[in-house]
Amino acid sequence: MRQQSFGRGGAEVPVIGQGTWYIDRGHRGEAVAALRRGIALGMTHIDTAEMYGDAELVIAEAIEGLRENLFLVSKVLPSNASRRGTITACERSLKRLKTDHLDCYLLHWRGSYPLEETVAAFEALKGAGKIRSWGVSNFDADDLDELLGVAGEGAIACNQVLYHLKERAIEHAVIPWCERHGVAVVAYSPFGHNDFPLPRSEEGKVLARIADAHKATPRQVALAFLTRDRSVFAIPKASNAEHAAENAAAGDLVLTAGEIAALDKAFPRGPKPRSLPML
Ligand code: NAP
Repeated sequence: MRQQSFGRGGAEVPVIGQGTWYIDRGHRGEAVAALRRGIALGMTHIDTAEMYGDAELVIAEAIEGLRENLFLVSKVLPSNASRRGTITACERSLKRLKTDHLDCYLLHWRGSYPLEETVAAFEALKGAGKIRSWGVSNFDADDLDELLGVAGEGAIACNQVLYHLKERAIEHAVIPWCERHGVAVVAYSPFGHNDFPLPRSEEGKVLARIADAHKATPRQVALAFLTRDRSVFAIPKASNAEHAAENAAAGDLVLTAGEIAALDKAFPRGPKPRSLPML
């Protein structure tokens, strides 16, 4: 599994990690097994959020005895992101995850609390050893500019944003911004949540052709395409162990320039939307 630095000067983190939204909805034992299989195959970056129901509890079960090898991320809801609320939300997540620290803690999306308050709380949590780094999610380039004004260069570890073959809006301004400022980009919903290209569609056939050439699968090709830039990580969610294994193997797949060009044509970037798309 390829690893790369999580932002400038950040920890080495595997390029493919594991999402956990809705992982608490199906069979608990299968979800735990899927996460453990993913970890064993190198997907040690685990993404969760206080918003994801009981996902933090499922993770706690899956990571028992494995904590020190993981890069564990959770998120505070904007409605809790005051100076005091961020700290208590983090403490709740730590308790649910049965751990004493997070590797990165994110503001889930921008809300009404001033960024100064949330950043002050993040820095206090960092000082207390409860988080190792912090970042944001669903921030467009202008939000990032504002955040940079509050936090300063080098403080923001990552920006987690919607990115899949059919939704490439972040390529216009967000990825370039993050690369300029040494901020990791984390691609969420890399399979479009539940909108992966159908095999019989024209685009699906392009994916299948490239996959066949590598003895890989269309989903592995999609993950390799999304993580073709060194600043980008992806966090597919799988509650099925076979799915997790398939996703982990994408961490070693490298596409040729010709294949990237073919995918770029089949799944065009499109014009820059007025606001950043999010789920
Ligand atoms: P996703 O990862 O794009 O897709 C998940 C779906 O793909 C599930 O139905 C899963 O099925 C299926 N799947 C996964 N691997 C597969 C494989 N190899 N073959 C066939 N099917 C496969 O969707 P997502 O959950 O929306 O996004 C991923 C993660 O990003 C989330 O879980 C969450 O951690 C994060 N996220 C963050 C935000 C944010 O605002 N920051 C928003 C959305 C998501 P099974 O479960 O049955 O395996």
